[in-house]
Amino acid sequence: MPLTVLQHALAAQILTRLRDKTTAPEQFRPLTHALSQILLVEATRELPTTSVPVTTPLEETEGSALTEGIVAVPILRAGLGMLDAVLELLPASNVGYLGMQRDEETAIATSYYAKLPPLQGRTALLLDPMLATGGSASWAANELYKAGASRVILLCVVAAPEGVHRLQTDFPALHIVTASLDRELNARRYICPGLGDFGDRLFGTF
Ligand code: URA
Repeated sequence: MPLTVLQHALAAQILTRLRDKTTAPEQFRPLTHALSQILLVEATRELPTTSVPVTTPLEETEGSALTEGIVAVPILRAGLGMLDAVLELLPASNVGYLGMQRDEETAIATSYYAKLPPLQGRTALLLDPMLATGGSASWAANELYKAGASRVILLCVVAAPEGVHRLQTDFPALHIVTASLDRELNARRYICPGLGDFGDRLFGTF
């Protein structure tokens, strides 16, 4: 599956406000929510559906329903900022949590928490706003495939070429949906131009 980079005027405007260093957490949170909804709409565009009958006030017609259950999986903690947007549009989703911590010196991610609902035959929406080296996302995607997910779609706000390359190499079937493919990682493995530390900006932990 490919990399999808949103081409959307509203998404671009929201992303610009997220990048702005003067955007405070109380604005950053609703902006993240709004952009996550746009990412979700794009990410679910081609999910399998089945036709279902529906009776309108005028007549019977054919409607459509998703065939696979959805499991939303935020990577703690920054992914939490994207979860409500998914649950708003897909309220019947189950939710799993994966806790990953990045060593600030080496940028190596280690896992400290994992709690997943059944994934066999379900679509997993992995929520990780910053795809940097791809270390956390790759570990998380591996957990989801191991648990039997039929497909994994990664929703991220900003992706770096390094992370995209890592995921495409490790999981050719994984679909990445992002609002921007940025230039590069810097020496501290932050995405440039990026928007800084997403978790800090979301929760005000500067
Ligand atoms: N995680 C972040 O929050 N920001 C980056 O730029 C890279 C990883």
